[in-house]
Amino acid sequence: MKKKITIIGAGPSGLAVAYGLSVNGATDIQIIEKESESGGFSRTLTYNNYYFDIGPHKLSPLFPEVIDTLRAKLNIELLEKPNYHGVLYNSYVYTYPPNLKEICTAPTITEILLFGYSWIVTKLRRVITFDEPDADLKNSLTKIFGKRFCDKILFQMIEKVWGNHTMHPDFYNTRFSNLSLFGSVWKKILKKKSIHSNSIYYPVHGFGDICRAFEIYLKKNNVKFNFNTTIDSIRCSNPSSLAGPYTIAIRNNSIENTIHSDCIISTVSNRNLIDNLTRSTEMPELKKLSNSFVSRMLRLGIIIVTGFHLLYRNIIVPEKKYMFNRIAEMNHYADLNYPENETLLMLDVICEPASIIGSLKKADFEQALLADALKLKWFSEAQVKMCFSLDFNDAYPVMSIERYQAQKELEKKLINSDIYLCGREAASDYNNLHNAVAKGFLVADYLSGKIGEAEYNARSLKIGRFPILD
Ligand SMILES: Cc1cc2nc3c(=O)[nH]c(=O)nc-3n(C[C@H](O)[C@H](O)[C@H](O)COP(=O)(O)OP(=O)(O)OC[C@H]3O[C@@H](n4cnc5c(N)ncnc54)[C@H](O)[C@@H]3O)c2cc1C
Repeated sequence: MKKKITIIGAGPSGLAVAYGLSVNGATDIQIIEKESESGGFSRTLTYNNYYFDIGPHKLSPLFPEVIDTLRAKLNIELLEKPNYHGVLYNSYVYTYPPNLKEICTAPTITEILLFGYSWIVTKLRRVITFDEPDADLKNSLTKIFGKRFCDKILFQMIEKVWGNHTMHPDFYNTRFSNLSLFGSVWKKILKKKSIHSNSIYYPVHGFGDICRAFEIYLKKNNVKFNFNTTIDSIRCSNPSSLAGPYTIAIRNNSIENTIHSDCIISTVSNRNLIDNLTRSTEMPELKKLSNSFVSRMLRLGIIIVTGFHLLYRNIIVPEKKYMFNRIAEMNHYADLNYPENETLLMLDVICEPASIIGSLKKADFEQALLADALKLKWFSEAQVKMCFSLDFNDAYPVMSIERYQAQKELEKKLINSDIYLCGREAASDYNNLHNAVAKGFLVADYLSGKIGEAEYNARSLKIGRFPILD
């Protein structure tokens, strides 16, 4: 294993790599983090004694090894809860994944019939024309779920979050080729028998529990954290292959310093990594890739309401007439000591910074968000105790075709280097907390020599998954 290791970013991915490397015997690990604390988008924040998460609203049971490590090795108390979330469509919240009984009794039965009709027509058309599944995500999803469901729900949902619904055919082929409606239903039926059934996990005090536990372990094992630190440049010993050792110029509150490292694991935006690499050396080909790594911003709205509870842990809101993509109730599962009868709702708005919503002034944004939430008629203005918002730039990578191509080119350029990409912004192939931690452990196993390249590549593909289907 490389001796001196530098990890950029102390989000779940960076922390999980550091943990895996430390467990596998690495002793010289440094983490560079631009914020004053670890956790990234999986941080739990405190405001006026209210706790709330920025990003994750559930921890998926997809990788039992992740759950086992968090519980058994890091002593994190995880509540096991039903994966109880819904989709708001046409003023009615449908459970997701769909529940047959509820579908049959929903008030919007005509809509359901129209969805069913569209699905049957799509299937029949496919049988009649002997149509092969194709490599385009949009067409393929239409063929699987029917045009109406895709137009009204799926594409709107993807577009609200990702800014588009195009995806590179290779990405689609490697990740979704086995996707089918029957397959998903069948998997659901089978899963009912497994221990994890249909549950999700939820740390008792919010997702910050996970990152805090990693940090405590790592500090005990002499991993060095450099908080409030940014990188000015990364110089490679061999610029043509980008191989190490590396000289990393860092800055902490305007104090400059240098780190020497044999290996770098980047969990931050590739735009950022490329900018750091090209700042010290002319590398026009590499520089060209930088602009393809585009991300959208998150405007997280918090509304504290009295005398109201969301029926679900979180509700996806695909319809464009609402500016938010998702509403979650923070105290749905955990007892967070909020004042009695109060509920903290988190409303995610993901948007381009230059869009109408993205460029609204904070106060105007909060007013518009509240007005939008009141449109739901779930609670009245008199019940609203507080409304505020927080902005996070670069929160959601745009999974465009250009990004996929740039990612592949960057990976090719790094093949003989000692730089490894991990984390949702850097690896560009997954989006959730369980993936971030699983990928971190995987990269650590690979770098420690516990697994070879073939196993690493095969397991990486299993980790990358289409985000909304998790
Ligand atoms: C709105 C939203 C909703 C989400 N919902 C869910 C969900 O329901 N379930 C789920 O499982 N996941 C969810 N996620 C995703 C989850 O938050 C991420 O998958 C997870 O945090 C990714 O971890 P990471 O380490 O890859 O990246 P991040 O969490 O982004 O961490 C990256 C770290 O790098 C630091 N950093 C960035 N740039 C630099 C730099 N130049 N120098 C030094 N440090 C830097 C950041 O400050 C951060 O600490 C959601 C995310 C968002 C934004």
